[in-house]
Amino acid sequence: MPPEITLPDHLRPSDGRFGSGPSKVRNEAVEALTAAAPEYLGTSHRRETVRFVVRRARQGLSELLSLPDGYEVLLGNGGTTAFWDAAAFGLIERRSQHLSFGEFSSKFAAVTRGAPHLDDPDVIESPAGTHPEPRVDASIDTYALTHNETSTGVCMEVRRPEGTDGIVIVDATSAAGGMRVDPGQFDAYYFAPQKCFAGDGGLWIACCSAAAIERIARISASERWLPPSLSLPIALENSRLDQTYNTPALATLFLLAHDVEWMLEQGGLEWAASRCDRSAEILYGWAEASKHATPFVAKPGERSHVSATVDFDDQVDAAAVAATLRANGIVDTEPYRKLGRNQLRIALFPAIAPDDVATLTGAIDYVIERLAR
Ligand SMILES: *Cc1c(COP(=O)(O)O)cnc(C)c1O
Repeated sequence: MPPEITLPDHLRPSDGRFGSGPSKVRNEAVEALTAAAPEYLGTSHRRETVRFVVRRARQGLSELLSLPDGYEVLLGNGGTTAFWDAAAFGLIERRSQHLSFGEFSSKFAAVTRGAPHLDDPDVIESPAGTHPEPRVDASIDTYALTHNETSTGVCMEVRRPEGTDGIVIVDATSAAGGMRVDPGQFDAYYFAPQKCFAGDGGLWIACCSAAAIERIARISASERWLPPSLSLPIALENSRLDQTYNTPALATLFLLAHDVEWMLEQGGLEWAASRCDRSAEILYGWAEASKHATPFVAKPGERSHVSATVDFDDQVDAAAVAATLRANGIVDTEPYRKLGRNQLRIALFPAIAPDDVATLTGAIDYVIERLAR
C-alpha cells in the first residue's frame, strides 16, 4: 500500500482523466447529449434525427481529415477490433503484411494468420519502443500499418510503400484526430471514437479511398463468405444512408459528432495536432529534465504526441505513483499491462488540456519525492 499522500490544490489538474482509452470525455459534450436526450436517445436509428447525427459525424470527419473526392467514411459496430475481422474478410485479397510493434498491431496480425481463407501474413516485428519499416513484396496485396501504437507510445509516419499497387490500411485508433496525416498515403484509415475523439467505445470508422472501395466490391463479388455483421459491402451500403447495419449506441454517435465539430470550430486537425504537440513538449521536456524519468521511446521522432510512455529508474515505483495519483483523482496513468515496465503512460489527446499535463508533471514530482525509497 502506498503511504497516504494528498496532493495540494495547485497540483490537481482541472480534469484527472489521463487514460489512453476510454479517455477523457468532454463535459460539454455530455451536457449537449443531456440536452438533446429527450428527442434523441431512445429513438429509431433509421429515422432522420439519428441519421442526421451520423451524417454530421461522417461529413465532419471528411472535412477534418481533408479527404479527397472519392473517399468515403464507413462505420459499423464493434470498435477497431471488429474492424480487423471485417478487414480480414473484406479488404485483404490473399496476403497482408503487418508491421508488428506492440499489442494492437500484433493482434491484427494474429487475426489474418488465423483466417483460413488468407495466405499466411508477412509479419515484420521490432522490439517494443521502436517500429519496423514495410518491405514491398509482390505477394502482398495489403500493407497494414499503425499510425500510433498505443501500447508502447511509438508513432510512425503514414507513408505508402513505393513500388506497389497493394492497398495501405492504417490502424489510426489513437491517432486519428490528433496526428497529421496525408490521405493520399492511405486507402483505409480506421479508428474508434474513444481516443482522440473523446467519445465512447463500440463503433468503428474507416475512411476509405476509391481503391479500397473497389477492393471491397471485388471481394464481395467473389465466392468468399462474408458474415453479415462484418461485411464491408453491407457497411458501405448502410453508411451511404447514414446508418449502421444493426443498432448502434446512439450516445457514442452523438459524442463523436459533437467532438468532431468542436475540433473543426477550434481550427481543425492542425489545431488539434498542435495542441497535442504542446502537451508532448511539456511531458517529454519534463521527463528529460527529471532525475528519475526518461521517455521510453529512444528516438524523439517516434515518440507519440497522443499517448506518451515514460520510464522510471529503480528508485521510483511507478505502480505506487500511479496508485497514489489514482487515490487523488488522477486516473489511468498505469502503463499497458503486458509491457511490464516500470512506467507511466499518459494520454495527450486533444481533449486533454496542455495546462493539465503541466500540472500532472508537478503532481508526479510531488508524489515521487514523498514516496522515495
Ligand atoms: C484502442 C486501440 C485498439 C482497440 O480498439 P477497440 O475499439 O477497443 O477495439 C486498436 N488499435 C489501437 C492502436 C488502439 O489504440
